[in-house]
Amino acid sequence: MYDVVIIGAGPGGYQAALEAGKQDLKTALIEEKKLGGTCLNVGCIPTKLFLGATEPIEEIKSLTRIRLGKGHFDLSVSALLKRKKNLISATQKAIAQTLKKFNIDIFQDKGIFENKTTLKLQKQNISLSFKNAIIATGTSERVIPGLEFDGNLILSSSQILELEDIPPTLAIIGSGPIGLELGQYFSRLGSKIMLIEALDRPAPLEDPDISKEIFKHLKKEKWELYFKSKVKKITIKDKRVFIHLENEIIEADKCLVAIGRLPNTKNIGLEKIDIATNKGFIPVDNYLKASKNIFAIGDVNGKAMLAHAAADQGEYVIRLIANKENSPYFPKTIPSCIYGFPEVISVGKKELDLKGQEYNITKVPLISNPIAQAHGLGNGFIKVIWQKKQVVGISAVGFRVSHLITLATIIVNQKWTKAQVREHIFAHPTLDESLKEALLQ
Ligand code: FAD
Repeated sequence: MYDVVIIGAGPGGYQAALEAGKQDLKTALIEEKKLGGTCLNVGCIPTKLFLGATEPIEEIKSLTRIRLGKGHFDLSVSALLKRKKNLISATQKAIAQTLKKFNIDIFQDKGIFENKTTLKLQKQNISLSFKNAIIATGTSERVIPGLEFDGNLILSSSQILELEDIPPTLAIIGSGPIGLELGQYFSRLGSKIMLIEALDRPAPLEDPDISKEIFKHLKKEKWELYFKSKVKKITIKDKRVFIHLENEIIEADKCLVAIGRLPNTKNIGLEKIDIATNKGFIPVDNYLKASKNIFAIGDVNGKAMLAHAAADQGEYVIRLIANKENSPYFPKTIPSCIYGFPEVISVGKKELDLKGQEYNITKVPLISNPIAQAHGLGNGFIKVIWQKKQVVGISAVGFRVSHLITLATIIVNQKWTKAQVREHIFAHPTLDESLKEALLQ
């Protein structure tokens, strides 16, 4: 009898297993595909590897003193793909070793609930009995009828990560973080990007001033931008993709569909444990419980679709099971970043959340920041949102602003006042100085 079985070894399940090991709980971790889940295999890690590898191209373009002659870059995509493969498998080995050190039993199989205390492993045809179960099955790419992936011309975000040939033209449907980050990578390698978004701006979950800054950059990079544009259908002719909008048809070599993700909750026996989903997601209470002894963490509960949120929830639930925690789960904030150029961060409240409420804003442009200047990438700004003279939100857009996210999170979580800001010396030259300037305006 396991104290806890964990279904899914993404950041949520893996972190839960690690914490369970530390708490000496008898634990089984079941993973159908690969250790590391979406994040390691087809998400956070490969996308950042691609962006990191191509970032010098962005910088070279912005530094007027370096000339590129005929402007020819030569990055070996096949070497990059090999590096991705090696990095992922090395990380998987490290995960497996760490879990073994903590005596976690790892099963490579699909877990399906038989009842409220037994999980069946499909391939091995064995049943594991448990006191507690954690569902950490994550999400998969959303497919909409008529826009199905074919793995060749119409690609999901996972499939496009395997592309060796850079398409001359790439249409991207969806301008959230995934569409923007992957678009940057292909754009840096020479693809002409056509970005199609149903709403009226890029990164529509961010504040409009952030979207405006991204918009300016995309225009500069000569992306073709289609906002308020709904895709009616996609057709293929002569190995080319045709994306049909209301009033026009866009033609491209390949098309990436990045319109969100849907929870992996089908065919895992939820009906056997009396758990009903809501739009596919598993509803949970304030303790992340889906029922008395069954928890749902990470993307699958739909609370926040971010790796660090999943990991934090995993750790919390294990501490609850091990009686090391008894408070409900209310994280103060969940920081988020978009990578590429410009980078975007936001933590705490956004202006979008504060409609009808009183708040103040202080904001500085990054143009005079010495680090941004040194790299010739001074576009963007840092914005601080205040309520009752306390910081309630920070967002920023620009070069490497992701480096500010943890400092910003601490400041928002602790609701700093200006007096608290003055207690600290911020090093020079750093991006942090501009955050201080924004805080003290
Ligand atoms: P997942 O990572 O999805 O893991 C779930 C695991 O469960 C999978 O391995 C799956 O195979 C397994 N599974 C499913 N069903 C079963 C079953 N029945 N039995 C056994 N195993 C099962 N987040 C960030 O915070 N930062 C980023 O920069 C970032 N970039 C991203 C880029 C892309 C392109 C994508 C797609 C996502 C990105 N994300 C990022 C989101 C991040 O990957 C997810 O939020 C995170 O992986 C969620 O973790 P999870 O543990 O909930 O689920």
